[in-house]
Parts: sequence; C-alpha cells; structure tokens
Amino acid sequence: MPKITLKDVTMIYPFQKVTGLIGRKQKQFILKQQQDMPYTSNEGVIALQHFDCTFEEGSFTVVLGPSGSGKSTLLRIIAGLERPVLGEIYFDDVLFNDVQAQERDVAMVFQNYSLYPNQTVYQNIAFPLEVKHIPREEIEPEVKKIAELLKLDEKLNKLPQELSGGEKQRVVIARSLIRKPSVILFDEPFSNLDVLMRKELRNELKKIHETYKTTFIYVTHDQYDALFLAERIVLLKDGIKQMDATAADVYNYPANRFCAEFIGSSTFNTFEDIPVSKDGKYKLFGQTYELTDKQQKQLGKEKCIDVGIRGTNLAIADKGVDAIIEYTEMIEADLIIHAKADDQEIIIVEKMDGNNEMKYMRGQEIRISFDPMYFHLFNKKGDRI
Ligand code: ADP
Ligand code: MG
Repeated sequence: MPKITLKDVTMIYPFQKVTGLIGRKQKQFILKQQQDMPYTSNEGVIALQHFDCTFEEGSFTVVLGPSGSGKSTLLRIIAGLERPVLGEIYFDDVLFNDVQAQERDVAMVFQNYSLYPNQTVYQNIAFPLEVKHIPREEIEPEVKKIAELLKLDEKLNKLPQELSGGEKQRVVIARSLIRKPSVILFDEPFSNLDVLMRKELRNELKKIHETYKTTFIYVTHDQYDALFLAERIVLLKDGIKQMDATAADVYNYPANRFCAEFIGSSTFNTFEDIPVSKDGKYKLFGQTYELTDKQQKQLGKEKCIDVGIRGTNLAIADKGVDAIIEYTEMIEADLIIHAKADDQEIIIVEKMDGNNEMKYMRGQEIRISFDPMYFHLFNKKGDRI
C-alpha cells in the first residue's frame, strides 16, 4: 500500500474549440463564457494550482472544498484519468505520471452508483475477482466477509433495482474493497443520500478503514463529513490548497477566513473592518481588546482587521453586549439565534435543553458575552494573524 505524493501539480483544462456551423457571435459567446470562469489563463480553466500533498500509507484524508474547487480533478489525476500539465505524482518514490490508470491499483467510488443492473448483489461484488480468474471457492468467502461488514449479507440475491440508495452505495464500496486496492478514492459518495443514511454510512466507512487500513482519499463539500471522518483535512479553494491539518486544528485554528467560514458553515460571525490603534488596541461592540505583540507584528502597517467568532463560542448571559433577537431556528440539537446589536447581525448557537426554545423569542432583549479567547483575527487579505 503505497504512499502517494503530489508535487507542484497544476491542471489546466484547455478551452473547448468551437468549430462547425454555428455563427461567429455564438462562438464568441461560448469562448467568453469559458473565459469568465473563476480561474482561467490564456490556455484554459485552471482546476488545480501548484498542489503539494502527501497521502501516507493507510491514512484517511478528506479533501474538503466547495463545488468547482478542483476536488474531482485531484482524484482523477491520482487515478491516472487525467494528466497534469505541471508537476509530479509519486507512488512511494516512483514517478507515476506516465503510468496508465489500469496499472495504478486504485479504486474509485463515485456518487452515482455504477452497478450492473442485471446482476445480483453477489455477482456485482464478486465481479472484480472473477475478471482476475480467481477460483469460485476462493471468491465466495471473500464476498461473504465483505457483505457482512457492509450489512449486505441479507441482500446478496437481490438485484440493484431492489435496493435503496444507501444499499447500492454499500455494494459499490464492497465491490471496490474486494480486490484490495492500495488506494480507494471517494468522490462525494454519499451526497445523494439522506442525512440519516449519510451518517450511518460515514460510521461504517470509518470502521471499514480501521479493518482494512487501505489508504482512503475522500473528497466532499460537506464539512460534517470532513469533521467526522478525517484524521486529516486538506482544504481546497479555486484549485489552491488553503490548509492541511487535523480536523481539530482546522476547526480551532483556521488558517484564513475562507477556512473559518467554510468549516463554520452558517454560524461563523465575522465583523469586518475593525480599526486597530497604533498600540494594537481594537474595539468590538464597545469593548476594548488588544492584539498580542506577535499579532501586531503580523499585521504590519495595516490598520484594520476582521474579527471572527463561532456562534458556538458566544453565550447569552447576564452581562454583555445588548442585542435583540430577530428570529431563531433549530438545527438538530442546536438552537440558532439570530440577533442584532449595533445594527450588526450576530449568530449565537445554544444547545437545546428542552425548554430554551421557549426561553428565546423574537423581539426579546438579550445580552451576549464575548470571550476574546475564541476570537479569530484576520488581516484584510483574509490570513489569520
Ligand atoms: P469539484 O470536484 O471540486 O467540484 P472539479 O475538479 O470538477 O471541481 O472542477 C474544477 C474546475 O475545473 C471547475 O472550474 C470546472 O468547471 C473545471 N473543469 C472540470 N472538468 C473539466 C473539463 N473536463 N473541461 C473543462 N473544465 C473542467
Ligand atoms: Mg466533483
């Protein structure tokens, strides 16, 4: 099971040439559409830029990023389905740029199930071994073992059309595991499933990894997937790596505003353009705080910062900033309180305890206590200081 290393990998998809019978205006329109994509060069769409990363043998890494950030491209490059325009890919210490996809011993699990519709679950799972001409009596125990692990033992005689979405995805995972590849690449495998099913499969995927210790690279736009699954998270935006750290570090010490807000989903508060005095002091809702010497140095000549704080790190208290509740919403066991103070929106997350839904109502006056220990400070470029 190799270690995979990418060095300075850059991928540019060339613009599509528009030829044929359509008019000049239409051709120009199509070209312009392509050039207006977020990151383009003269040659085409830049999907991955100077990407460096090592995926250790047997590790479980989640690559997290919004749609279009280059996640699928990264997997396709590792699988050998795409050749980068720049940079190198190593499996262990062997340069693999020119190694064909079939020779890479990599399996891929996509979000769209690709099962053989006329074959049973058993036949679908056994298929990769049958192609290798492995004797039947050796295949059977393997299929049974994997089916049990994935809770498919009761479904082995069913056809794919008789399965639920979650079950189909289990079969896909079983089929990719059975040939014991060195690496399994998961491309948003659960994004078509409902929340409960997703949670269940996440749990199981973790167990499967513990059992098989195959190198897993899992890409998703879902922060919950990432926080739950990852030993390590690589954050991607516009094809550029933003951060590479443990889930806890990504959560507690986001490298920049993008990472903070992406992991915080909709409950990360950012207060923008807060002036900083010469001696490193700044005010937030009437309270004065101070930058550390190190932060002052990092800020340099700039005179403004953005201050971020997670809604989960704010509390409603007896003392604090006066605010008024605008509305509340419930997300699972959390009560999300949207309040306003000094004309600014503040989001506070309280754990539901059975009766605080009644406690906090629209129009109610509250006080919010801020603990600077949880502040995330960013310069105007968005980097953490
Ligand atoms: P993600 O999987 O994170 O959504 P992708 O890797 O699919 O991102 O895409 C990254 C960027 O590359 C996007 O801007 C996308 O439009 C572009 N892209 C992806 N595949 C192609 C392709 N075959 N031809 C042209 N552009 C592409
Ligand atoms: Mg994708």
